Amino acid sequence: MKVTDHIKNTKGKTLFSFEIIPPVKGHKIQELYDNINPLMEFEPPFIDVTTSREEYVYLDRSGLLDKKLTRMRPGTLGICASIKHKYDVDTVPHVLCGGFTKEETEYLLVDCHYLGIDNVMALRGDAMREQTYFEPTKGGHSFAIDLVSQIQNLNCGKYLHEVIETDDCSNFCIGVAGYPEKHLEAPSLQSDLKRLKEKVDAGADYVVTQMFFDNNKYFEFVAAAKEMGITVPIIPGIKPIAVKRHLQLLPQVFKIDLPQDLIEAVDNCENNKAVRQVGIEWAIQQSKELKEAGVPVLHYYSMGKSDNIKAIAKAVF
Ligand code: FAD
Repeated sequence: MKVTDHIKNTKGKTLFSFEIIPPVKGHKIQELYDNINPLMEFEPPFIDVTTSREEYVYLDRSGLLDKKLTRMRPGTLGICASIKHKYDVDTVPHVLCGGFTKEETEYLLVDCHYLGIDNVMALRGDAMREQTYFEPTKGGHSFAIDLVSQIQNLNCGKYLHEVIETDDCSNFCIGVAGYPEKHLEAPSLQSDLKRLKEKVDAGADYVVTQMFFDNNKYFEFVAAAKEMGITVPIIPGIKPIAVKRHLQLLPQVFKIDLPQDLIEAVDNCENNKAVRQVGIEWAIQQSKELKEAGVPVLHYYSMGKSDNIKAIAKAVF
C-alpha cells in the first residue's frame, strides 16, 4: 500500500515508522532482523531501506595500491523484498541518482514493480568521499527532481527509450527529502524550499525531513512549505543522539544546529551509555510534542540499532 494511503487511513492517528541500513557485505541479514523484531510491536506500516553510494577501496597488491570501486552495503532491494515477505509490511527502497545510470534505475524500478513494492524514496545522494561536490554519474541524473520525473514517466508507461502501451503500469508513491534547516549546498532556505516545490510539482507524493533537534525548525519549515503551496504530507525524521561524538559530527555532516540544552546534557554525560539515555529522552520529548501537533508519521533513523528506538516508541505510541 502507498505511504500516502497509510496516512489517509489513520484518521488522525500518528504512525510509527523507521529507516534501516543494509548490513556491510559479508554480514548476516539475521543481524538486521534482530534489530527489526523488537520494533514490530509498534506496527510500522512501512520501513525504509537506505541505499549506499559506491566508494573506493584500496587494495595492497605486493606493495602497489590498487583502487577499486565497490558498494560496501549492497542489497537494498533484496532486503526490501525479504522484510516485506517476512513481516508483511510495506518497504520503501531509497533510489539514488549518484552511482546509477538512468538505465540501471529503470531496471531497479521494474524489479520494484515486479516485487509489489508500492513506494520509492527518490534522492540525489551525496558526493563520494573523494569529491567536494556531488558529481552526477555518467548517464545518470543530476538532481532528485530528474529521478522523480523518471519514476513518474514510468508510472505512465513511458520507459527511457519508448512509450509502451500496457495495462500493467507501475503506480509508485514517491517520497523525497526535505530540509528544515536547508540542504547544506542550498544558498538559502527559501531557494531550497523552491526546489522542494519543484520536486512535488514533478510528482513527489510526500516528504521526509532530515533530522532536526528543535521542533520549532520543523514547524516553521512546514508553515513555509504550505505558504509556498506544498500540500503533500511532510513526515518528520527523528534521530536520537547516541554518542558524544555526534555533537561535532551531526553539525559537520548535515549542517544542522543542536539546541544548547541538549549540548549541555550530552556534555555532562560520563560515558556513551549516559549519552544514549539523554538521546532517548530528548527524542521522546520531541516525539510527544510532534504527535500532539498531529504529524502524520514519526519516522526514526535507527542507524542499525533498535534498543533506543524501542525505548522511544514505548514512551510515545
Ligand atoms: P536534491 O533535491 O537534488 O537537492 C540537492 C541540492 O541541489 C539542494 O541544495 C537543492 O536545493 C539543489 N537543487 C535541487 N534541484 C536543483 C536544480 N534543478 N538546480 C540547482 N540546484 C538544485 N543519501 C544516501 O546516499 N542514501 C540514502 O538512502 C539517503 N536517504 C535519505 C533519506 C532522507 C529522509 C534524507 C533527508 C536524506 C537522505 N540521504 C540519503 C541524503 C541525500 O542523498 C543528501 O542529502 C543529498 O545531498 C541531497 O539529496 P536530495 O534528494 O535532497 O537532492
